[in-house]
Amino acid sequence: MANPKNVKCSFCGRDQQDINVMVSGLDGHICDHCVEQAHLVVKQELKAKGGKSAHFVLNLIKPVEIKKHLDEFVIGQDDAKKVLSVAVYNHYKRVLQKPKRTTAKDDVEIEKSNVILVGETGTGKTLMARTIAKILNVPFCMADATVLTEAGYVGEDVESILTRLLQVSDFDVTAAERGIVFIDEIDKISRKSDNPSITRDVSGEGVQQGLLKLLEGSVVNVPPQGGRKHPEQKMIQIDTSNILFICGGAFDGIEKMIGRRIKPQSMGYSASKEGDSIERENILQYIAPQDLKKFGLIPELIGRLPVITYLSPLDEVALRKILTDPKNALIKQYMKLFDMDGVKLSFDDDALDFIVEKAVEFKLGARGLRSLCEGVMTDAMFEIPSEGKTKDLHITLDYAKNKLSRSKLKRLKAA
Ligand code: ADP
Repeated sequence: MANPKNVKCSFCGRDQQDINVMVSGLDGHICDHCVEQAHLVVKQELKAKGGKSAHFVLNLIKPVEIKKHLDEFVIGQDDAKKVLSVAVYNHYKRVLQKPKRTTAKDDVEIEKSNVILVGETGTGKTLMARTIAKILNVPFCMADATVLTEAGYVGEDVESILTRLLQVSDFDVTAAERGIVFIDEIDKISRKSDNPSITRDVSGEGVQQGLLKLLEGSVVNVPPQGGRKHPEQKMIQIDTSNILFICGGAFDGIEKMIGRRIKPQSMGYSASKEGDSIERENILQYIAPQDLKKFGLIPELIGRLPVITYLSPLDEVALRKILTDPKNALIKQYMKLFDMDGVKLSFDDDALDFIVEKAVEFKLGARGLRSLCEGVMTDAMFEIPSEGKTKDLHITLDYAKNKLSRSKLKRLKAA
């Protein structure tokens, strides 16, 4: 519709010259900015009224099946997979349980089974949480505990985590209320010291306190567009009782605390007699709530994370498998990329072994495998698509060594 000059948006009052597009009605006008805002409001309102997106239909399978699916994507970490599969299954059984009847038999109330995963960075904590959400077809989001601060201080409020969950759920509140939230680096918000100090610990204990209500289940006002809460922003209420929280952290140095705790028992006569000796290499497997407390998590938070499990450091064998075995293993991804250009990509085993060797030597872990592979493959990925002649690309040990020169490796390590 043609716009006469000096027209203002009837909603925000902006002038024609200050906006991109003005839509005019019988006796009013609306600018492109307000159209977008209105679209979002309508979407949120419809969702809030129970309009379910067909997108997220919970697919609850049994723990053994959950683990089987996890095995397709995550290498090793059997204990964590088992514990997580059970926790997740129980959690969603609890979500799906029929409303309580009044008979005494039904008085049993299943409690929430939020999980804490302890393990070095790059051992698969996030991957495991994300994969579980995909298997069950529930919304998933990640948050970094280090960016959170106590309400009222510079940084993000704990509620911002739920904003992200709402966004990935496409503002379907019902779906978001059954989602999974992964809170990373939970160890970085440990209490700064055992003594209450004069200065407030707004990014440590303050955040732990803030997380309590989210983790145990309560109705929280969430700003749909994120940012700080301000009075004129319309809030969306989210009940967190059925949201599963999985927290992860490296808890650097916690092995020493575990060691100190279990040492007296392992030396006892009865312990050794029953063959209950302690495995020194993987001491993380003995992790218990009291170690987390010693590390600086407050008891109330530990209480709301009743399921504790650990992820082992990845050895050379595990790293080698990660390259080729998972459903979307790195090497499979490169093969697919080349295949799209009509090129058949293959690798010599010793070339792959070399990549793993370098990941171990430079302590790059599983995350480093990707950058190492990029180092090997970039030149080929740059040249071959335009050159159009190569139909087979075979990566040998010499090729990999040549591409991963010493200086390149140093740069990777420094990154
Ligand atoms: P964390 O959360 O423990 O720091 P991630 O789960 O983010 O580590 O792992 C980083 C990347 O390393 C993943 O995207 C994945 O490619 C790879 N990875 C790590 N651990 C494993 C594993 N156990 N099995 C398969 N891939 C893994």
